[in-house]
Amino acid sequence: MRVLVLLGAPGAGKGTQATILAQRLGLPHVATGDLFRNAVRAGTALGREAHGYMERGELVPDAITIEMLIERLGRPDAAEGVILDGFPRSRAQAEALESALLVRGERVEVALLVDVPAEELVGRLAGRYVCRLGGHPYHVILNPPRVPGICDVDGSPLEQREDDRPEVVRARLTRQLAPLQSVIEFYRARGILRAVDGRQPIDLVSRGLIEALDPVTTA
Ligand code: AMP
Repeated sequence: MRVLVLLGAPGAGKGTQATILAQRLGLPHVATGDLFRNAVRAGTALGREAHGYMERGELVPDAITIEMLIERLGRPDAAEGVILDGFPRSRAQAEALESALLVRGERVEVALLVDVPAEELVGRLAGRYVCRLGGHPYHVILNPPRVPGICDVDGSPLEQREDDRPEVVRARLTRQLAPLQSVIEFYRARGILRAVDGRQPIDLVSRGLIEALDPVTTA
C-alpha cells in the first residue's frame, strides 16, 4: 500500500496537486475537507457535527476526523494506496495514522509539502473557486477554467467556498498554520519530508513533487 501525504497551508495548492498526482500515479485522492463538505451537504450526523467548526475556520476535533479517515482507508478502492490531502492536520492525527498503518505493516512513504509563504495565502484563497460537483479547484489568475464559471473536468458551475470569505480565511490561517507546522516537524523527524516551492507554475510544482518521490517508483 502506497500512502502519500500532501501537506500545505490552506490556499497553497495542495488540492490541485493532489488531483494531478492521483491521476499520474493511479491512486485515489482522499481529501478530508471534501469528505466533510460531502457530509455537510448530505446532512449526515457527521456533517452536522463538523459544520460549525468549518464555518468558524477551526479544525474539526481529532477524534471525529481520525475515525472518518480510518473508515475511508478501509474501503476497497484504497487497497493499493492513497494520496492524502488535508490529513493529517495535527500531531495527534499524524500519530493516529502512523499507528493505523503500523498494524497493517505499512507506513507513510513520503510527506510532500507544497510550500507557500503565509503572506501570499490570503490573496490565493480570495481568488479561489471550486466546482459544485467535484470540488475541483480554480483560481481567477493562477489557474482559470477554460470556460469562465464552468469546471473543465465535470462541467459543473464554479462557486466560492463558504469558508473562503475573507473573515473566515483569516481565522483559518490563524488557527491552522501552527498545527500544520507540528505535522511538518513530525515528518521531518522521520526523514520523509520533501518540500517543493509552491509559488512556481502548477506544472513545475507537479514536476517537483514527482521528482521528490522515490525515483524507482516513478521511472
Ligand atoms: P480543506 O478543504 O482541506 O481546506 O478543509 C476544509 C475544512 O474542513 C477545514 O478548514 C477544517 O474545518 C475541516 N478539515 C479538513 N481536514 C481536516 C483535518 N484533517 N482535521 C481537522 N479539520 C479538518
